[in-house]
Amino acid sequence: MIEIRNLSKTYKQHQALSSINLRISTGIFGLLGPNGAGKSTLMRIMSTLMKPTEGDVLIDSLSINKNPEKVRKLIGYLPQHFHVYPQMTPLEILDYVGVMKGVTNKKERREQMVHWLQEVNLTSKANDKLKTFSHGMKQRVGIAQAFMGNPKLVILDEPTVGLDPEERLRLRNLLSKEGLNKSILLSTHVVTDIESSCYEIAVLRKGELIMDATVDQLKERACGKVWEGDVPAGYLDNLAEDTILYSEHRGNTIHARVLAEEKPFYGAKMLEPSLEDGYLALLGGTVS
Ligand code: ADP
Ligand code: MG
Repeated sequence: MIEIRNLSKTYKQHQALSSINLRISTGIFGLLGPNGAGKSTLMRIMSTLMKPTEGDVLIDSLSINKNPEKVRKLIGYLPQHFHVYPQMTPLEILDYVGVMKGVTNKKERREQMVHWLQEVNLTSKANDKLKTFSHGMKQRVGIAQAFMGNPKLVILDEPTVGLDPEERLRLRNLLSKEGLNKSILLSTHVVTDIESSCYEIAVLRKGELIMDATVDQLKERACGKVWEGDVPAGYLDNLAEDTILYSEHRGNTIHARVLAEEKPFYGAKMLEPSLEDGYLALLGGTVS
């Protein structure tokens, strides 16, 4: 069990996190929020790389403030910008991280390295230097190293950036499997990334936790407010009060999906909301 207690972070004058309280149990937990919301700040603090201004995080009752060394061994972390040494190979990086996580037995470390490289589909590149890797391949090395040492909590900061659709799918399957026996905290600003893998999500905006809910509860925020249909070209401007989620020219008309409290135009049909609709309804401000 992970417990975030009254956590705040101020960079000079700027308050990046304001009194965050959150509990995370086993499974995949999604951290959503626009850029600048404070996701990376929260994750850096949880991974003990940075100290909070106030508050604490307890990982299996161990405090990040009082026991950072012990906590570090329980955590795997993929930073948003995974900078790697260009001369190193995936095996060397995983070996290094394994030692840091306390996997002192060489044979055991080797087994883990082989396993995680396989999980991210990099077995054939195990001994290639990272300078020859694409961004997506480096990202996969980053994901593999985050799982070394069998951590209780795996923190992945925007792991899907740079991955192609096939790799995203592989990551989703990997997380579903791993989420059965550990906590995985995953941040993203792309809602569809977490729609199919997370059960619980927290939404951060400007350093504040504005929602801590299940995926279905977030969807419900847009219930009865999502409309779709054809509007005459030029009419879209009249919908300024509402949020246009999507629009596409189809001959003389525009096919639009709109977030609105009431039927926004003649012929509009009400739809079941997606998670993204719920998220936009929560953030939008125009629809409460
Ligand atoms: P997110 O990951 O959600 O995009 P961040 O945690 O990176 O958000 O940033 C939260 C806020 O804190 C932003 O306004 C950002 O500009 C600011 N910030 C982040 N890191 C620093 C830093 N090292 N020094 C000063 N301000 C920072
Ligand atoms: Mg970030």
